[in-house]
Amino acid sequence: MNILVINCGSSSLKYQLIDMSNEEVLAKGLAERIGIEGSIVKHQPTGKESVVIEKPMTNHKVALEIVINALTDSEHGAVKSMDEINAVGHRVVHAGEKFSSSVVINDEVMEALRECIDLAPLHNPPNIMGIEACQEIMPNVPMVGVFDTAFHQTMPKSAYIYPLPYELYEKYGIRRYGFHGTSHKYVSGRAADMLGKNIEDLKIITCHLGNGASISAVDGGKSVDTSMGLTPLEGLAMGTRSGDIDPAIVTFIMEKENLDIAGVNNLLNKKSGVLGVSGVSSDFRDIEGAAEKGNERAQLALDVYVKRVKKYIGAYAAILTGVDAIIFTAGLGENSYDTREEICKGLEFMGIELDVEANKVRGKEAIVSTENSKVKVLVVPTNEELMIARETRELV
Ligand code: AMP
Repeated sequence: MNILVINCGSSSLKYQLIDMSNEEVLAKGLAERIGIEGSIVKHQPTGKESVVIEKPMTNHKVALEIVINALTDSEHGAVKSMDEINAVGHRVVHAGEKFSSSVVINDEVMEALRECIDLAPLHNPPNIMGIEACQEIMPNVPMVGVFDTAFHQTMPKSAYIYPLPYELYEKYGIRRYGFHGTSHKYVSGRAADMLGKNIEDLKIITCHLGNGASISAVDGGKSVDTSMGLTPLEGLAMGTRSGDIDPAIVTFIMEKENLDIAGVNNLLNKKSGVLGVSGVSSDFRDIEGAAEKGNERAQLALDVYVKRVKKYIGAYAAILTGVDAIIFTAGLGENSYDTREEICKGLEFMGIELDVEANKVRGKEAIVSTENSKVKVLVVPTNEELMIARETRELV
């Protein structure tokens, strides 16, 4: 069975075609600048030359047609015809409280996703566009929605209710939902395999540290708390997002800086985080480089970032009443051994002992704690596409 995994952003469409008989990627790629001048598809068939296709793409449907043509092309394709694409798995960011697991997409599901647009105005509309484009082009192929929020639906009410007037939860669904669920689920499962343990017996803290970043407390394979909330703005400091701040700052800066709602939203989502503190970049490679050259604000941004990760690790160890393993994943978590070292430094009292040499890995599965470390520390590259493909196979 070949499964096409689709992840649509407002102007992009990421895809992977996976052969589920051996979980091998047949081809992957990215359509960018959809609806903007200079649209382009970068297509990478496994074992063949990659190709760049420059064609106008006015919308996601046109982009998908070009992607399907690339996948079935006689020269750089991966399959002979569209008939060899047996199902499509769609990444969808927000499913509210409706779905606690992946579902086969039907009219009712589409309606539920539209109802969640208010909760994820930037993410759900392009996700929905991607599904609609696939339905038009491949009307007979089963489609599955895999939701970022689903894994966290096991959180207890005490973890997801904000200390706000309860009516706001009842009226608008204002509560903590959590994101990156597919990643937290995948890496916690892999960690159990790597440790040769049953996931039901493990208390795990998963640190997804990418451009967006979140931490989860996973007890026996179930999410019991996570750092992102109603939106992906809560929690850790991120590339450009503030994470946790005193909510009073919002009205204060609106008044002082004469900002409207869009202005303050932009400031917190696009101009804050390590970019805001360092003034250098949102990319940790740039910030680490600047800090090494003595840029104090770049160093401060790294220090703020690390301290917040530490705080969540401490908090989640308390929530879990102990911890067996800490996992690092996503761009920064998989690659930056300096950041992992800084985060683990000083946590020996909790039984966390990093093996500094073993920790010097990038983008590879590894156990990076010492033999005697009570808490195991692991690097597990995330693979959200494979997780989406597996869930899709299970449902179709
Ligand atoms: P992601 O959102 O998971 O793709 O992560 C992207 C982020 O990972 C980038 O913005 C970088 O800050 C960070 N990153 C990727 N590779 C490295 C590296 N080798 N060292 C430090 N940070 C990295």
